[in-house]
Amino acid sequence: MKTIEKMEQTHLQEAQAYVQQAYEAVQKRNPNHVEFQQAVKEVFDSLVPVFAKHPHYMKQAILERLSEPERLISFRVPWVDDEGNIHVNRGFRVQFNSAIGPYKGGLRFHPSVNESIIKFLGFEQIFKNSLTGQPIGGGKGGSDFDPKGKSDSEIMRFCQSFMSELSQHIGPDLDVPAGDIGVGAREVGYMFGQYKKMRGGYEAGVLTGKGLEYGGSLVRKEATGYGVVYFVDEMMKDKGLSLQGSTVVVSGSGNVSIYAIEKVTELGGKVVACSDSGGYVYDSKGINVDTVKRLKEVEQKRMSEYVQEHPHAEYYEGCSNIWSIPCDIALPCATQNEIDEYSANLLISNGVKAVGEGANMPSTLEAIDVFLESNVLFAPAKAANAGGVAVSALEMAQNSQRLSWTFEEVDAKLKAIMKNIYQDSISASEDYGTSGNLVVGANIAGFKKVADAMIAQGLI
Ligand code: GLU
Repeated sequence: MKTIEKMEQTHLQEAQAYVQQAYEAVQKRNPNHVEFQQAVKEVFDSLVPVFAKHPHYMKQAILERLSEPERLISFRVPWVDDEGNIHVNRGFRVQFNSAIGPYKGGLRFHPSVNESIIKFLGFEQIFKNSLTGQPIGGGKGGSDFDPKGKSDSEIMRFCQSFMSELSQHIGPDLDVPAGDIGVGAREVGYMFGQYKKMRGGYEAGVLTGKGLEYGGSLVRKEATGYGVVYFVDEMMKDKGLSLQGSTVVVSGSGNVSIYAIEKVTELGGKVVACSDSGGYVYDSKGINVDTVKRLKEVEQKRMSEYVQEHPHAEYYEGCSNIWSIPCDIALPCATQNEIDEYSANLLISNGVKAVGEGANMPSTLEAIDVFLESNVLFAPAKAANAGGVAVSALEMAQNSQRLSWTFEEVDAKLKAIMKNIYQDSISASEDYGTSGNLVVGANIAGFKKVADAMIAQGLI
C-alpha cells in the first residue's frame, strides 16, 4: 500500500514538473502573447492529474505539440472606403489542430485582434470542438478591422478583399471558418460569394453560419446563446436548482447574448440587464428581447437607445459595473476577461448561484479561482458556449448530404449535445479526483480525444 502511494506521489510530482516546464517553454516562445499564455495555463494546469495517471502522454511531448499551431497565416487586407481612401488591415488564420477533423472556428473582426488573441481563440477551439463530439479540429481567424460605423459597401469590399487571400487556405475538408465578434450572416454572405467566385464551384460546406437560402442551418443563429442556457439549466438541475424564477444578468447584446436572453425568458427566468461597449441597461421588468434584436440586428444602434422605448429602464455608462447588479445567474456573453477578481467577488457577495460563460474566456484566471473556491456552479466557456460550433458541424453535415433538417430536429440535437458535454465534463472531473470542477473536467474530456488521435496518427 505504502509503495503504491509513494509511486502515485512521484507521478504527481513528475506531472507537475512536466506541466511547469511545458508552460515556461510556451511563455518563452510566445513572449507578450498574454491572452494566449492565459488560455494555455488554464488548460495545462488542469491536465496534471491526467499525466500523473497516464505518464505516457508526457513521453509523447503532447503539450509541446498541442500548444504549437500546425500553421499560422498572416496576410495583408487592402480595401477602399466610400471616399476613395485606401486602408490596410491585417488578416489572420490559425490552423491549430486537425487531429480529429478539418480546422473549424470563427472569424473575428475587431480592432483588438492580434496574433495573441487569434492564438488564444484557436487553442480554446481545439478542446471545445472535441467536446461537441463532432469531427472538427481547431482553428480561428480574423482581422483588426473595425466594422463599427462602416457602410454596407465598405463591409462588402473589406470581406471580399479578406476572402481573396483566405480562399487559398480553406475548403470544406480542410478549414471551415464561421462568424465570431463582428462577423455575422451578412459578412459570411459576402465572403461566401467571393469564395465561390474565386473557386468557380459551389462548395457549400466551406463556411458555416450561412443564410438559410444558400445552405445555412436552422438554429445556427440561436445556437450559442440557446446552448449556454441549455448547459446552465442542466448543471442547475443536476444540483437540485432551477433556472425558472431566477434573476439573470447577461452581458453583451450581440448574437450570443440575444439568444441567451430569449431562451432564459422562455424557460421562465428574468433577464434584468444587458450591455454593449458603451454601457448597460437595467430593466426591472425584464429585458425586452425584441427591442434588443431590432436595435442590434437590424438598426445597428447603441443600447442607450433602449430606454427611449422603455422609459422605466435605466441606462448606465461603462459596462463593467453590470456585475454589481444582484442576480442568481450571471451569463458573461460579451468578450474575454470581462469578469476580474473584483467582479467575481462582487457577484458572490450579491448571492450569485451559477455562472455560465457565453463568451470565450470571459473570466480571468483569478476570477475563475474565486468562483471555484466558493459554492458557485461554474460553467466554463469551452463547455458552455460549444453550442454554436456544434451546430456549425451540423450545418457541414447537412451541406454534405445536400439536405436541410427542420428547426425541431436541429434544436433537439443541440440540446442532446449540450447535455452530453455536461455529462462528459462532470464524469471526467470525478474520474480525476476533482469532482464537480467543470473547468478541469471539460479540459480533460476535450484533451483526451485529441491527444489520443494525435498519438494514433504518429508524430504529427
Ligand atoms: N465563433 C464561435 C465559437 O467561438 C463559433 C465558431 C464556428 O461556428 O465555427 O465557437
